[in-house]
Amino acid sequence: MRQFSSPESPRLMTARPRSHAAFARAQKLIPGGVNSPARAFGAVGGEPIFFKSGLGQHLTDIDGRSYLDYIGSWGPMILGHRHPRVVAAIDEALSRGTSYGAPTEAESGLAEQIIEAVPSIEKVRMVSSGTEAAMSGVRLARGATGRELIIKFAGNYHGHADSLLVAAGSSAATLGVPNSPGVTAGTAKDTLVLEYNDPEGIEEAFKSHGDTIAAVLMEPVVGNMGLVVPTPEFLKATRSLTEKHGSVLLFDEVMTGFRLAYGGAQELHGVTPDLTTLGKIVGGGLPLGAYGGRADLMDQVLPAGKVFQAGTLAGNPLAVAAGSATLAELKEHSPYADLDRRGRRLEEGLRSAAKAAGLPVWLARVGSMLTIFFQPGWLADGASPQPVTGWQTASQSDTDRYARFFWGLIDRGVYFPCSQFEALFFSTCHTDADIEQTIAAADQVLQSMADDS
Ligand SMILES: *Cc1c(COP(=O)(O)O)cnc(C)c1O
Repeated sequence: MRQFSSPESPRLMTARPRSHAAFARAQKLIPGGVNSPARAFGAVGGEPIFFKSGLGQHLTDIDGRSYLDYIGSWGPMILGHRHPRVVAAIDEALSRGTSYGAPTEAESGLAEQIIEAVPSIEKVRMVSSGTEAAMSGVRLARGATGRELIIKFAGNYHGHADSLLVAAGSSAATLGVPNSPGVTAGTAKDTLVLEYNDPEGIEEAFKSHGDTIAAVLMEPVVGNMGLVVPTPEFLKATRSLTEKHGSVLLFDEVMTGFRLAYGGAQELHGVTPDLTTLGKIVGGGLPLGAYGGRADLMDQVLPAGKVFQAGTLAGNPLAVAAGSATLAELKEHSPYADLDRRGRRLEEGLRSAAKAAGLPVWLARVGSMLTIFFQPGWLADGASPQPVTGWQTASQSDTDRYARFFWGLIDRGVYFPCSQFEALFFSTCHTDADIEQTIAAADQVLQSMADDS
């Protein structure tokens, strides 16, 4: 891998003295100065920006600079920051108490909303993060089938549980540590990793391991190696093979649930999984995850069944209030057609700006999620960029170019993901004018990248 040096990063320090000081302090106290590696800016060669507030589509850093936010807390903030309905719901719950360790009616309310939104979910259990949801879903699949092997796909991220941290995407891909120290060989050997969008690969795997595979776990639209869309053939092969062999098909919709459609990616694809994991939007910006699916499977979870899973703060009243208000808003004002229209305009604007600059990029988008994959070299006349279909192609991206693009946008007040291998998200607050401003900023940056080469 090439060494990256950003000419802009010294400027970052002088332009943002408070962020610089805050990061120096945090690094002494917190490993790497951050509580999650995706925030560290390591992949773009610089120091993270520290924020003090968000409102609608904007973030304000501790130096008082404002940014158009294309991360949305990595997905949850589909309604923008401090949406009045969500804030009111949290306030109301807060005025009564923050945690009881006992059931509340509001949990059934949110469960009803989830079950109504996602038809494949007949029963649902709430947890506190996407990691917990995926980990619990896998345990349930293993417990219910009495089998040990699971299949996952390279570049798909399902949180940091041991058995899922094999060839993971997201910050694991970003940092180039697909296998974390601390994950035992014994654990890793129960996880089979295949290339995404390769129907023959999964057919082969079932041919050799068929009746020992507990579950196939997948992002039904991948966000965690940058955005990658599955082909219909791949989805079809996966659904029919799991069905034929009695394996659980587990869709990880932590990122895509309520984001791509109210019913998630499974609604878009028309594919019905056995289990689904949710997170991010379902908590409306507070820590909440969930897993659910066929009632006969879910009834095997303790105390209905024997598969152990528990959580002191699971179904937390504040998180349930925020999630419930977010889902109610999404259902009443279904924003998906508008998000898709703005997304299409952003995609087209970025594509023509890159073309004008002669830079080969692959643009992937579904609704309000998008990735611009930079490729090495120059776009010859009439040539097309290489499609990104899985980790093999995604990992060939020119991450130096992405880093330059990222810093150029930061200088223009546009906050894109700090890694080539993360999708961007925008919210219902982003206006047509915001999208045009973003395209204009990107156009300037791409042009200057072409001029400097
Ligand atoms: C974010 C994410 C997770 C992990 O969720 P956390 O809340 O960060 O633990 C799992 N799966 C997918 C698809 C994700 O995008």
